[in-house]
Amino acid sequence: LSPVPSDIEISRAQTPKPVDQLAQEIGLLQEETEAYGRTKAKVRLSLLDRLREQPDGKYVLVAGITPTPLGEGKSTVVIGLVQALSAHLKLNSFACLRQPSQGPTFGVKGGAAGGGYAQVIPMEEFNLHLTGDIHAITAANNLVAAAIDARMLHEATQTDKALYSRLVPSVNGVRRFSPIQIARLCRLGISEIDPRALTPQEVSSFVRLDLDPAKVTWQRGRTLYNQLFPPPIFQPPHMIAVASEIMAILALADGLGDMKTRLGRMVVGSSRSGQPITAEDLGVSGALAVLMKDAIKPTLMQTLEGSPVFVHAGPFANIAHGNSSVLADKLALKLVGEDGFVVTEAGFGADIGMEKFFNIKCRASGLRPNVVVLVATVRALKMHGGGPNVSAGSPLPREYIDENLSLVTKGCSSNLRKQIQIAHLFGVPVVVALNVFKTDTQAEIDLVCQMAKESGAADAVPCHHWARGGRGSVDLAQAVKQASSQPSHFQFLYSQETPIVEKIRMIAQKVYGADDIELSPEAQAKIDYYNQQGYGKLPICMAKTHLSLSHLPEKKGTPTGFTLPIRDIRASIGAGFIYPLVGTMSTMPGLPTRPCFYDIDLDPVTEEITGLF
Ligand code: ADP
Repeated sequence: LSPVPSDIEISRAQTPKPVDQLAQEIGLLQEETEAYGRTKAKVRLSLLDRLREQPDGKYVLVAGITPTPLGEGKSTVVIGLVQALSAHLKLNSFACLRQPSQGPTFGVKGGAAGGGYAQVIPMEEFNLHLTGDIHAITAANNLVAAAIDARMLHEATQTDKALYSRLVPSVNGVRRFSPIQIARLCRLGISEIDPRALTPQEVSSFVRLDLDPAKVTWQRGRTLYNQLFPPPIFQPPHMIAVASEIMAILALADGLGDMKTRLGRMVVGSSRSGQPITAEDLGVSGALAVLMKDAIKPTLMQTLEGSPVFVHAGPFANIAHGNSSVLADKLALKLVGEDGFVVTEAGFGADIGMEKFFNIKCRASGLRPNVVVLVATVRALKMHGGGPNVSAGSPLPREYIDENLSLVTKGCSSNLRKQIQIAHLFGVPVVVALNVFKTDTQAEIDLVCQMAKESGAADAVPCHHWARGGRGSVDLAQAVKQASSQPSHFQFLYSQETPIVEKIRMIAQKVYGADDIELSPEAQAKIDYYNQQGYGKLPICMAKTHLSLSHLPEKKGTPTGFTLPIRDIRASIGAGFIYPLVGTMSTMPGLPTRPCFYDIDLDPVTEEITGLF
């Protein structure tokens, strides 16, 4: 329709096919799905065993140029591309998307299910509880917090003997010793674990974790972030579920066993003697796995045109890696078969989400992508070319409405070219998808496509999926199919043996274009500690602003001549990465002054939700 109706009107105008019909169409057996209502189903991981011998399909990553604060349409491109591949090119294909945090839904965006005629439906279910995975993460996160509190309380109030009989976890009557306890016994020279042979002092040092309250790094969870209050209104440290290590683990685990091991490895703080204390030391990893056992199964939904979508995991793209789950991608690659396509999305710009997709997600999964689709918009290119700032909720300045080839040229020769070069560092062919808005002129569209090809893109095509659905992305689908037949010479940016500081420097210089990095004393001390603890081989997950290639959000285009400041470094040992905090990057975004939740309401009679858009 023209004008294109609102997202929620489009979503409600389409009746989704029953999820069991969709499951049957894509080759799932009845016993491999667990329906949650009529439009969503969890898919059991046993599918991976059944299809073990099936060759994988082609693996396509959708990333973007440095965005405006409005978002440039990566999710809509993923959905439009899959609609074009399946409904129009008649190729098996699957979209893999992150489950949105409540932040975008109740804060600024009003939802994150795509938009226009490229959406996941029903959009209300996608944007709200889905199948409860985020709630499971919140519960698991809070269980760890409760285990810490309880442990510290009991260690402070009970005798060694009582502690030993109660606090060394036992399974079926057999004591289960945590790695830290075994390490202590080894240090004490006790080869056989027989507590009766221990002196009272030994029992004490063996049983007591001796967590230092000042060094507990674990934070309590919740599902929605708050406005950050300046002092004097005190805001105790909190963690939102999507920013938690457990969410990152869900996204990186490749099975229940791997998830349980990673959950056990999470470091919650350190002892008074400086030893890291893990969830396994607290004896809580089994219980965490129980809370997370259903969350590990991806949720099957569909696009407006009935193509299959996995929605699974939604780690933040700053302090976590910003990609949907390894398991969803693996299952989808088997389901589409050798000639099919799986399209997955990396959050933020290619310098962040794509770099982490390659260096963290692909390293964990062993999967190798065939093509990168780099999403660009005329409005973001104009901003990089020197156009005025754009912000959510304010009308777009004139430069963004009228044709302006000079700004577009400057944006293409700076940010677009650099982001194409970043993808090429990893040896993967790039197709530029120009997400067309109604204000774009033909001359602007042609210019972007021409300059993208001159910058090394295998192809560059305008996409009209937002206004026309799958048929608006047929050219993109053809270009992706063509590029996927080219050889991909994938390589990591760094080897895991490279020292932590060098890894950070390589990302800063090769990806962001920095001259060098500058480590704060705190960051240097943490690196020394991590090396000493044996964490030096972990990949790096940079927590940097997504609004610039540099650490300064106001620097657009391709900033040069800057030194990247690393203010602090933290580690997610269970997820398996180290995350440097770059510049003033906040780990906890705040809701705007006028959040979307002001407008979200429920009619108690019709049960209709209003205010999502
Ligand atoms: P990203 O995934 O890059 O953050 P989204 O796909 O969520 O971006 O799109 C951001 C917003 O812009 C959504 O509200 C979407 O509906 C809207 N949008 C995307 N593409 C277009 C377009 N071509 N025309 C108009 N609005 C669009």
